[in-house]
Amino acid sequence: MTSDLAGKVALVTGGTRGIGRVIAEKLLGYGMRVVVCGREARDIPAEIGFIACDVRDPEAVKAMIAEIVAREGGLDFVVNNAGGSPPANAATASPRFSERVIQLNLLAPLYVCQAAYTQLHARKGAIVNIGSVSGTRPSPGTVAYGAAKAGLLGLTQNLAHEWGPEIRVNALVVGYIETETTDATYGDEQKQAAIAKNLPAGRLGKAEEVAEAVKFLLSPAASYITGAALAVHGGGERPPFLDIVKGEG
Ligand code: NDP
Repeated sequence: MTSDLAGKVALVTGGTRGIGRVIAEKLLGYGMRVVVCGREARDIPAEIGFIACDVRDPEAVKAMIAEIVAREGGLDFVVNNAGGSPPANAATASPRFSERVIQLNLLAPLYVCQAAYTQLHARKGAIVNIGSVSGTRPSPGTVAYGAAKAGLLGLTQNLAHEWGPEIRVNALVVGYIETETTDATYGDEQKQAAIAKNLPAGRLGKAEEVAEAVKFLLSPAASYITGAALAVHGGGERPPFLDIVKGEG
């Protein structure tokens, strides 16, 4: 499929599996040249470039961007998707654990944006940061992750102001999405159905739906959208107090 994004070069961090992999494939389908990174090479289609990079390492990130420019002749778009966190008890989580989670979910996107700045500025590019509902509501059990994802929305607004008009910077606030790890993250089918019941969409989301939102924010159709946080969360959860007040909770 050709599109107004055809021939543009995009980096999707963490595009080797999960949501990032689907974003990478979607952008490829729109005729873009796509490079993904992760710490480990995985089974990636030949048309998608791969660079091994731990995005928490700013020097490795700089080398990755230089490699993309050498291979592809430039870079137009960054999708900061690599992220996540295991659960941890806030009272006992080690400083090292908290640092690693904040490095991955907040500092790494900044490192990637900084390293890509010159390219994106020259080519009037765009950035999409993959945020989470954990950054917009309480996130007990993953507090460093929730705080980092909240910070990512601040980073998005701030970079949009500092780097506009040449570079647009937006975020997605992503809800509960089906991936290879859904069962591990959200529990069995019954638990997933209970989660879905509280969402106006009535179901968990699909990575494909996140990818469509990324494509939209990168495209000229979003030319007046910057510094924004677009929710892709099926409408978000119904506040439990409503059912408690009605005596159904
Ligand atoms: P996955 O755990 O399935 O995939 C994560 C990807 O990031 C992998 O490609 C992984 O590759 C890569 N990655 C992890 N750590 C690093 C690192 N230090 N350096 C480079 N790459 C790294 O994640 P999801 O698809 O579930 O999530 C993707 C994004 O969406 C995350 O930002 C997450 O916070 C967000 N999100 C996900 C939701 C969901 O329901 N799944 C809900 C809300 C937000 P490797 O391990 O080889 O490095």
